[in-house]
Amino acid sequence: MTLKILAVVSEIYPLVKTGGLADVAGALPGALVPEDVAVTTLVPGYPAVLAALKKPQVVHTFAGLFGHDARLLKANVSGLDLLVLDAPHLFNRPGNPYVDADGKDWIDNPLRFAALSRVAAEIGQGLVPALTPDVIHAHDWQTGLTAAYLRYSGRPAVPTVMTVHNMAFQGQYGRDLLPALGLPARAYAIDGVEYYGTIGFLKAGLQLSDRITTVSPTYATEIRTAEGGMGLDGLLRSRGNAVSGILNGIDTGVWNPATDARIAAPFELSRLAGRAANKKALQQRLGLDVDPNALIFGVVSRLSWQKGLDLLLERLPALLAAGGQLALLGSGEMSLANGFAGATTLHKGRVGMVNGYDEGLAHLIQAGSDVILVPSRFEPCGLTQLCALRYGALPLVARVGGLADTVIDANEVALAAGVGTGVQFSPVSGDALEAAIWRTADLWRDRPTWKKLQKNAMKTDVSWTRPAAAYARLYRELVAGRAG
Ligand code: ADP
Repeated sequence: MTLKILAVVSEIYPLVKTGGLADVAGALPGALVPEDVAVTTLVPGYPAVLAALKKPQVVHTFAGLFGHDARLLKANVSGLDLLVLDAPHLFNRPGNPYVDADGKDWIDNPLRFAALSRVAAEIGQGLVPALTPDVIHAHDWQTGLTAAYLRYSGRPAVPTVMTVHNMAFQGQYGRDLLPALGLPARAYAIDGVEYYGTIGFLKAGLQLSDRITTVSPTYATEIRTAEGGMGLDGLLRSRGNAVSGILNGIDTGVWNPATDARIAAPFELSRLAGRAANKKALQQRLGLDVDPNALIFGVVSRLSWQKGLDLLLERLPALLAAGGQLALLGSGEMSLANGFAGATTLHKGRVGMVNGYDEGLAHLIQAGSDVILVPSRFEPCGLTQLCALRYGALPLVARVGGLADTVIDANEVALAAGVGTGVQFSPVSGDALEAAIWRTADLWRDRPTWKKLQKNAMKTDVSWTRPAAAYARLYRELVAGRAG
C-alpha cells in the first residue's frame, strides 16, 4: 500500500533555500517514490514559492488564520507535490524567509510558523480529505508546534515524526504568546510546550512527536549530551528509543559531475582529466594564480561560529605555507567576511573569496578544488562534504556529527587497507586543524595515493537511496504501531 506522508517545512529546494534543510526537503520526496511512499510537502507561500506555481488548485480557504484570510493551494513544481499556505499577511515578504532586510528575525516569526504548523495539524486531521496523510513529518523548530496542535485539539491524530536538522535553532518565545498561538493553558506544562519558562517550539516537537530523528547517527548521540543537546539533552535522553539518526544524502541528479551544466567541464571516475579544466576555471574566477600544482582548499559555507571558519582564518598562514590556495564562498557574519576579504588583499593570488550566496559557484568550487574544508565545531550532518566526495575533492573535516560518519580518515591503517576518503581532525582546535592541513599537503605530494583516495571518495554512496529506505521503514513502523 502506498504510504501518504505530509512533510511540513519552512524551506525547500529549488524554491527557497537558506541551507541543508531545503536540500533535504527537496530531495527526500523523490527518493521515497521507489519505497512506495508518496510525499506531499506543506510550505509557506513566500513570493518565490507562489511565483513558481503554475495553475494551483485552491483546496481550502481559511476565514481568519492568525488575523487574516488565507488559502491552501495545491500544485506540482519541479516534480514536488506541494501544498502551499498562501497567507500574504504572514509570508508575502521577499528574500530570506526568516529575517528582514536588516538581518533581524521577523517579529512575528512565532505566529508565522505556528500558522504553518497549525495547518499541518489540521491536514493531519482531515482538513482536505483526499490529502489526509498516514504520517506527518515535521522538520526543525518552525514546525515543532505541529505535534502540539495535534495533541491539544482533542481529536484523533496521525502519528508524527520530528526531524532535527540543527539543535542550535530552537524557536523560543515568551509564554504570554500562548493564547495568540491558540493553545490551551494546559499546554504550558513540562510535558507540553513549556521550556525554561518560555514556549519552546522545538521542545514541543521533541516532547510530543511519536518519533524523533536527526540527520546522522553521531549527532543523535551528541544531542543526548549536555554540550550537544543545548538544553534539550535531558528530554532527548528521556525519549529513549524514540530518537534515532538517519544520515542525509544528496540529490545525485543535481550533484553529478558527469552532467553538471554549472561546471567548466564534465568529469567522472573513468575520465578524471576534466577536473583540471574546472580547477583552472575556479582559479580564474576567484583571482587565484593559475597553477595546476597548487593545492586548492575550497569552502562553501554559512559564515558562522558553528562552521569553525575563525579557526581557518587563524591558521591561514599554515595553509599557504603548505602550498595551498583558498577558494571560499560564504555568507553570514560580517566579522568573518571582513577577515577573509582582508586575506584576499594580503595574499593576492593565493586567497580568493566571494561573499554571498551563489549556487553555480558552489558547484564550481566542488569541481575545481582538491580539498573541501569543513572545520565545524558541530555539524548535524553536513552536505558539502558529501558533494565533495562525489566530485572527487577530498573532504578535510572536523570529527563531529555527520562529518565523523561520512568521511573515512586516511590514517596509516586506512591507507594500508585502501579505504580512506578524506582527512579528519579532532579536537576542533586551531592546532588540530593546522596538523590536518599539513597531513593533507603530505598526501597531495604523493599523487598515486591521492588518486586512490579520490577514487574511494567518488565511489562512496552519498545518494538518498539508503536514507530513504530508513525513513520508509520508520513511517511503516509508526503506522503499524497505530494499527496494532
Ligand atoms: P547548513 O545547513 O548548516 O548551512 P549544510 O552543509 O547541511 O549546512 O548545507 C549547506 C547547503 O547550502 C549546501 O547545499 C551548500 O552547498 C549550500 N551553501 C552554503 N553556503 C552557500 C553559499 N554561500 N552559496 C551557495 N550555496 C551555499
